[in-house]
Amino acid sequence: MSEREAVRNARVRSKIVATVGPACRQRLGELVEAGVDVFRLNMAHGTPEVHGETIRAIRGLEQQRGQPLAVLVDLAGPKIRLGKLLQDPLPVERGQHFRLLREGPPQRDVDLTCSYRQLYDDLQEGDAVLLADGTVRMRVTRRAADHVELVAESWGEIRSHQGINLPGVALRMDTITPEDASHARWAVEAGADFLSLSFVRSVLDVRQLRRIIEEAGRACGREPLQHPAVVAKIEKREALAELEPIVQAADAVMVARGDLGVEVDVAETPVVQKRILAVCHKYGRPAIVATQMLDSMQSSPRPTRAEVTDVANAVLDGADACMLSGETAVGAYPVESVAVMNRVLHYAEQIMCGRGAVLSSEATPRALHRITAAVVAGAGVVAEQADASLVAVLTRSGATALALSHQRLAIPVLGGSHIPETARKMCLYWGVEPVWVDGQDAEGDGSKVLLQRAEELGWLEPGARIVFVTGQGVVGRTHNEVAVYEVPAE
Ligand code: PEP
Repeated sequence: MSEREAVRNARVRSKIVATVGPACRQRLGELVEAGVDVFRLNMAHGTPEVHGETIRAIRGLEQQRGQPLAVLVDLAGPKIRLGKLLQDPLPVERGQHFRLLREGPPQRDVDLTCSYRQLYDDLQEGDAVLLADGTVRMRVTRRAADHVELVAESWGEIRSHQGINLPGVALRMDTITPEDASHARWAVEAGADFLSLSFVRSVLDVRQLRRIIEEAGRACGREPLQHPAVVAKIEKREALAELEPIVQAADAVMVARGDLGVEVDVAETPVVQKRILAVCHKYGRPAIVATQMLDSMQSSPRPTRAEVTDVANAVLDGADACMLSGETAVGAYPVESVAVMNRVLHYAEQIMCGRGAVLSSEATPRALHRITAAVVAGAGVVAEQADASLVAVLTRSGATALALSHQRLAIPVLGGSHIPETARKMCLYWGVEPVWVDGQDAEGDGSKVLLQRAEELGWLEPGARIVFVTGQGVVGRTHNEVAVYEVPAE
């Protein structure tokens, strides 16, 4: 095998999230083969029926391949959209005046309406209103009885139903709309592994989603460990102001650069991304970097130099996963996009292993017991000093595997669980190869299944050492356990 081929087939340790859409719905197996770990279903597009079909296809693929695959359901949140324009598209001149109507249909070309009825009440003189993905900026100049007046500060073009961003405007709308709540309940029942919430503004939004999940989980008889993990999408200034509590309240985080790059100055997004990733690392939360990672590959088989550099830098900054959006959902090269991302991540990983953090128990009060934190810290040292080829973890909740993931060990980590939902959640943990240990193991502890999987992956040579770590509650009467196993020499 040539070096190029070897790189193409390499299993990377950083994770890939791919958005499912018409371009790849019939090609999910090819996407997994190319390196996808987590499939994202965007509730802003498509119906629960269509997404339900996709979840069934993913579960079928999982059975067929004997490999856990995770499903992330992305709730649309309160995205405010323009109503129908009389002239569509409508060119906008700098200095031109517009009216945002309180109600009623537009009478003139310059009349704007929107999907959020109370916007008229929430806007004040001086507020900025951004349209067309932030390319058209307007400012509120006056409040009148039945409309607010706006002046365009840039030129461009707007279209019906485009998103509206209102950086700095205190909106009185709920983050979780009734439709989001209903989609969340559907996702719990459909067996989603992650549930992400768009436009999070406060830690209360994260807690509210968790309550909805818990109620829905109880109603359909799912144990807490089977509930989807909560992913907070960071894309609002308000969320940046409350970043630490939000990260602590969530199970994982997404740097949602699409709306973030409109809500903050686009020039600030690289620095904001680094700040979010640092906070995720501090609290031991997996992080996904999303949007425009390989954007040009929607229409080109090759990425730009800047895009591949962005992907590599995301994981070097500490991201666990990189996400593809339009590239896989509607692009012309969905499988090629995943393959390119996989190769870039492979090269980035050559310089990053061993640069991680050992998490303290204070850092992760929700997820990690202090004894587990101590044992995991020790296991990393044992593995490195014993020259182990593999660390194999058995875990109920996945917390032990997550703590190991944050060490960014150079040594491969296998994460085994008897609970399929825990195995799937590990699909997002950097460097952890998830294995569902289905209880058929003669030893009853799953170690045989893990050794078998390590062998299949070519990670076990005669004489190799393996460090076994068990999580809390796996072995009777012990809290956590570390053991070193040696493969018999031939
Ligand atoms: C984003 O804004 O970057 C994002 C991922 O969210 P959405 O695709 O739902 O706009």
